[in-house]
Amino acid sequence: MKEANIRLLRTPIFSDIPIHDQRRLGSQSPEELIQRFRQFPLNKGFIDWAFEHELMIVYSNIDGKGYYLPQIREIIVNNKLTREEINLTIAHELLHAALPGINPNKDQPELELALDEIAQEYSNDEDFMRYVMLKIPSANTYNRPQTNLKP
Ligand SMILES: [Zn+2]
Repeated sequence: MKEANIRLLRTPIFSDIPIHDQRRLGSQSPEELIQRFRQFPLNKGFIDWAFEHELMIVYSNIDGKGYYLPQIREIIVNNKLTREEINLTIAHELLHAALPGINPNKDQPELELALDEIAQEYSNDEDFMRYVMLKIPSANTYNRPQTNLKP
């Protein structure tokens, strides 16, 4: 991995990320990332933190499956997806929210694949997903501007 990428992974965007998430910021490889989320899984405490920081899920008529806007803490989800795809997309974007040091861009496709693998496990966890849906406010809009961010 390029030196610039490693520095990026170690630099949190937010200083108020919970301490249990600071542990993940030093991840340097997809394998390490997957291991860390198995060791320190996203829990209800993280969802509580996200709620307190006004994270929102917004369903919209976008082209891709979804993306995360860290500046305003919004998870945008394609409103035409199936329930299963929605769960997977929300789990994936929650991982981005938990990883402020990782910039989702086209230079890190291997990290995106790792996030998909981790997200699959979360989206299959009915108890976790039920808590997400219960706790995190959601909205519908048809006015969400398109973005060129990768999901
Ligand atoms: Zn992603």
